[in-house]
Amino acid sequence: MQTIAVIGAGQMGRGIAQSAAQAGYKVLLSDTALDLAEKGKGTVAKSLDRLVAKEKISVGDAAAIVDRIIPIGDLARLSEAAFVIEAATEREEIKLKIFESAGAHLAADAILATNTSSISITRMAKASPDAARFIGLHFFNPVPVMQLVEVIPGLATSAETTARAKTLGEAMGKQVVLSQDEPGFVVNRILIPMINEAIFLLGAGTASIPDIDKGLKLGANHPMGPLELADFIGLDTVLAIMDVFLKGTGDSKYRPAPLLVKYVEAGWLGRKTGRGFYDYSGEVPVPTR
Ligand code: NAD
Repeated sequence: MQTIAVIGAGQMGRGIAQSAAQAGYKVLLSDTALDLAEKGKGTVAKSLDRLVAKEKISVGDAAAIVDRIIPIGDLARLSEAAFVIEAATEREEIKLKIFESAGAHLAADAILATNTSSISITRMAKASPDAARFIGLHFFNPVPVMQLVEVIPGLATSAETTARAKTLGEAMGKQVVLSQDEPGFVVNRILIPMINEAIFLLGAGTASIPDIDKGLKLGANHPMGPLELADFIGLDTVLAIMDVFLKGTGDSKYRPAPLLVKYVEAGWLGRKTGRGFYDYSGEVPVPTR
């Protein structure tokens, strides 16, 4: 049984751990402290219980999957892993420190991957022990449900590392899309400016919140409208990603919509604060403009 290590037991790290364990890998799960890794494992167990209740997996399979996840408090055990996947907080200084400390225990042929949504793979590779064995593996939320993983080689990533990362994604039951190391990779580079454009339209009074969302749902067959989706992602996150695009490309077409900036300044960040383009305090979301 091959071993995968996951650093960061938040919503993405837990999902990656669950998907890897479901695919038959032994998973070492770590966070800033052992109890957080244990808590992460507990959350995976609960999500598997829900699959058992829906009769999607058996009680025995769920127990075997949970057993394959091993919370660790000491990074020395990373030497057992063929892949180390970092899924910690989206802050470059945190990630760089992790690559240095995890890198010290990385096995000679192991690959260090990052689940970053926006930070340059090429730049972060410099903090890893071997840039040829460093790569982006961008999973989507919730990981056990979403079928896609983007594989992003940095400038120094070897062809062998890219091929092995692709194989891992496929072994975890995902479809792979290969992207060069550009801000937002493929999906977010298209998705987030589309959401920003919807906010420009709203700010200009072109259409109402429900009509913009209805337009994209019925006219483009999207499962959610762009403003609903913005509330789901978090408006602060949408703004942060647009800022990365603007800074990373220097192209003014990525300037954030002024109304997006205003909503973030007001603390109306979407579902997580109970109010964004919709108000979530009642039973049904109500448009806020
Ligand atoms: P999260 O806040 O749910 O989890 C982050 C975890 O990292 C926390 O448990 C935190 O304790 C841990 N952490 C912080 N510093 C650490 C350290 N030094 N060592 C080990 N663990 C540490 O965040 P998330 O949504 O799971 O995001 C994690 C990564 O995945 C980010 O890079 C994010 O951009 C990326 N991502 C997120 C999504 C999404 O929809 N949330 C989608 C794709 C990629």
